Amino acid sequence: MSFARPSVALLGATGSIGTQTLDVLRSQLGAFELVSIAGGQRVGELAAIAREFRVGRIGVLADADREVLADLVSDDVDIVVGSAGLAELAASADIVVNAVVGFAGLPVTMAALGAGKRLALANKESLIAAAPLVRMARETPGAVILPIDSEHCAIHQCLASSRGEPGHPDVRRLLLTASGGPFRGWSAQRLATATREDALHHPTWSMGPKITIDSSTLMNKGLEVLEASALFAIDVERIDVVVHPQSIVHSMVEYVDGSIIAQLSKPDMRLPIAYCLGLPGRLDHAWGEIDFTQPLELTFEKPDREAFPALALAYSAARRGGAAPAWLSAANEVAVEAFLADELAWSDIVATVAAVMDLYVDDPLDSLEDLVENDAVARQLAHGILKKQP
Ligand code: NDP
Ligand code: MG
Repeated sequence: MSFARPSVALLGATGSIGTQTLDVLRSQLGAFELVSIAGGQRVGELAAIAREFRVGRIGVLADADREVLADLVSDDVDIVVGSAGLAELAASADIVVNAVVGFAGLPVTMAALGAGKRLALANKESLIAAAPLVRMARETPGAVILPIDSEHCAIHQCLASSRGEPGHPDVRRLLLTASGGPFRGWSAQRLATATREDALHHPTWSMGPKITIDSSTLMNKGLEVLEASALFAIDVERIDVVVHPQSIVHSMVEYVDGSIIAQLSKPDMRLPIAYCLGLPGRLDHAWGEIDFTQPLELTFEKPDREAFPALALAYSAARRGGAAPAWLSAANEVAVEAFLADELAWSDIVATVAAVMDLYVDDPLDSLEDLVENDAVARQLAHGILKKQP
């Protein structure tokens, strides 16, 4: 990485993490060079970002988008298309922010690591699905993953207080905090009445629709257990979930001597994004600053694992390993899409995932082709189960 002015590729630039990354870049004018961006449907917004930041390369979904975009940006902008385009952009910047949602973020993760880049990772789905492959890709000289996901970013900061040996022998367990989502404390009976609007109303974070729904089912926390295990090479049996409704303590590490190290701030994703851009230093802008002159309540409770079976499903997928986490994530994506399209009841999201996981047959996952095939099979099974819904 060049120290003068690191180049940044921001893929998923039009979304919640993407636009907050732009905020961080605006707060650090001249410190980074945004060299490429990519997005999905919002082509007009891509053009506006390109004009503001004088971006030279843009990734779009399809040839039709390329034509629309070409009319909105200057002639010297290079437009690339599809997953091959995403991979090309991810392989050619010092820092790659993967802010794409879902399995579509896989080419970004694999290409950035394969090219030995710093991967600032928001897209947890690619890491979870491809964990065995990511483990190998991380061996590429220069390749490093820094987690944008707030809990994992917190743990990354907490782990700096230990010596960092493989296996983290001084660490007893990682404590992932969870807000509990909009349905914390709801009974199973009440959960059966949950609507799309209820589920989209997150109490502490404003995020894209997919992760907001994942937060309502606690599947997001289940995915985060898998994410933490893959990121920090720690067995899931040493990862616990603690509900903390205020979302101030972003996660904790408990050491074998009983000491617990935590990271705190008001909920603001721009802080973890800035951490991933700035390391080894810290960027001088206080996102999520806490005012200790005001009363501050921090409470903790255990998650309701019966009302929210997604947690147990995630632990079970982690224990099975191989392609099981990829199936979990793929089935969940299909179910969440159906819920967002008003085709599925809230309580059937996780039921659909569970039904797909019942069909999983162990597969060690040894290649990218194998992963893509597993993803497709899990999606097909999920769609089949959805068709049988009344
Ligand atoms: P959004 O839905 O807000 O944004 C998703 C981004 O991905 C958009 O830029 C979208 O483009 C783009 N995109 C969608 N499909 C494709 C595709 N096939 N190819 C290329 N780009 C695509 O999601 P979030 O920003 O909320 O989440 C992004 C990731 O970060 C997720 O994995 C999420 O779990 C993770 N994350 C998010 C947090 C948050 O606070 N939002 C917190 C922690 C993790 P367009 O909108 O133009 O269609
Ligand atoms: Mg998170």
